[in-house]
Amino acid sequence: MSYVITEKCLGERYAVCATVCPVECIHPGDYKGQEFMIIDPEVCINCGLCLPECPVGAIVASEEEDQAYAAINKELTPTYKNNPPAPERPKNDPPKRPGNKLVN
Ligand code: SF4
Ligand code: SF4
Repeated sequence: MSYVITEKCLGERYAVCATVCPVECIHPGDYKGQEFMIIDPEVCINCGLCLPECPVGAIVASEEEDQAYAAINKELTPTYKNNPPAPERPKNDPPKRPGNKLVN
């Protein structure tokens, strides 16, 4: 079981989730030509700290809630996990992705 970063993160990458993760299992990369982040499902300890930090509500608490993106997080982990940390965007910076709203 693992937390999962979903499609709402595509093009956003606020990166505050990675800052609070106690086991450093959230990694940045590009997906579909846009900035993205994934959670390494092998390392995530399900602490829940990241979920309320995401300004656009892009994180879900289990693989069952978004099975497609759970698979994508897992598939991208090997290529993302050695990337340097992404810089944080301010939490009140307006979302870039159409349809996203600030929720946290
Ligand atoms: S805080 Fe949310 S939008 Fe930002 S990188 Fe993390 S999951 Fe993506
Ligand atoms: S649930 Fe905890 S361990 Fe898992 S990605 Fe979020 S902050 Fe990291």
